[in-house]
Amino acid sequence: MSHAIFDAHLIRRYDINGPRYTSYPTADRFRDGDWTQEYATALAAADGRALSLYLHVPFCATICFYCACNKINTANSRRADAYVQRLIHEMELQSKMIEGTQTVEQLHFGGGTPTFLSDDQFSRIFDALDTHFLLGSGNARDFSVEIDPRNVAAERIEHLTGLGINRLSIGVQDFDPDVQKAVNRVQSIEETSYVIDAARSNGVRSVNIDLINGLPRQTPGRFERTLERVLELQPDRLSLYSYAHLPQRFKTQRQINAAELPTAETKLALLELAVEMLADADYVYVGMDHFAKQSDSLITARNDGTLHRNFQGYTTHGHCNLLGLGVSSIGKVGRVYVQNAKSLADYYEAIDSKRLACSRGIVASTEDLVVGEVIQDLMCCDAVDFASFRERAGCDFQNYFAYAWPKVLDLQQHGLIQLDEDALRVTGRGRFLLRNICMAFDPWLRAAGERFSRAI
Ligand code: SF4
Repeated sequence: MSHAIFDAHLIRRYDINGPRYTSYPTADRFRDGDWTQEYATALAAADGRALSLYLHVPFCATICFYCACNKINTANSRRADAYVQRLIHEMELQSKMIEGTQTVEQLHFGGGTPTFLSDDQFSRIFDALDTHFLLGSGNARDFSVEIDPRNVAAERIEHLTGLGINRLSIGVQDFDPDVQKAVNRVQSIEETSYVIDAARSNGVRSVNIDLINGLPRQTPGRFERTLERVLELQPDRLSLYSYAHLPQRFKTQRQINAAELPTAETKLALLELAVEMLADADYVYVGMDHFAKQSDSLITARNDGTLHRNFQGYTTHGHCNLLGLGVSSIGKVGRVYVQNAKSLADYYEAIDSKRLACSRGIVASTEDLVVGEVIQDLMCCDAVDFASFRERAGCDFQNYFAYAWPKVLDLQQHGLIQLDEDALRVTGRGRFLLRNICMAFDPWLRAAGERFSRAI
């Protein structure tokens, strides 16, 4: 596996819009409709694989201006009670449709702000999870929560770990006070380190920190100080996302002063700075946006070829069927992808009528499966082995992707990939452009236009 090399010239050249490929087919291809029947059939035929559960909590007490998530701005904590009740009903509905008992290996609370929920509400959710699913134990479980340190006390961490949470993901984005003001997320270093200390003293085995480059008022000098503070906190994993300013699509982003956004050149400099500092601190580049300590399970999985990518980014649980619970959550069982209703009213209406809330979805075609596996190989292993491809697809790689070959040769000519008789391999320089390499093989992309974010 090649060591990732930051090549600013190449990254500038390939700075075009593209999907992040957390699934294939990508979520923009899901179609509106009632997908309950397809999902129920897939669940009933679930092949004994372990489960990964995603629970979405949409509420946020304050709104970060860069946000592109599905969230509801409210300070009324009582709204969460009604929501938790529906989550529990949905667990009951989905679990009844699964044949046999399959262990939940992975569980993730995302948002929104999961810590908008009270201790009691988390306890009720875990009681229900215990009732309706077989929760993995000990090392067989990866149970995580996204934490907003601005509203979390040490007792909250103690409560969550007592329920079985063993991973935390902490939003930071940037520690600079001016940047924080510009994005309406003022969060001190002290609040953040307090939560991390509490997590570690309560036995949490992994802490992830999220950062964003490309936010208003960011400069290399300011971002360097943020990175120094972040490295002092020694997270096990780091996600570094590139901010995509799409105010036409995301209303919240209209509150960002576009004149304060860094230029594409500054954004590139911020990325380069981060890559250098993380490498100097011995973090390994996992793949798109993600870094981890050498000892982390993502790196082990990467080295032994078991790493996967799904809606939560990179994962060691790619073999699991994925069940989404809550408004707008996405699930994948076999070939079937479904997304729950995005509005709370529609979600409540479905669950209260004892129906699943699947309102968008797709059944992956055989072609989708073939292309999806190639994208997985590129994203997670930096290579496609031609003999394995032939075995899976029953066809020669170059023949199958004849439509992509001019782009493939372009990637080769510019040094992003190497081609030989046995395999296509991503070079060190190509590793920071994984999405661009994947895009060459995506037959659906031509019609996708400007809906995606850019590489930097
Ligand atoms: S970034 Fe997270 S905490 Fe901020 S508004 Fe969006 S969902 Fe809420």
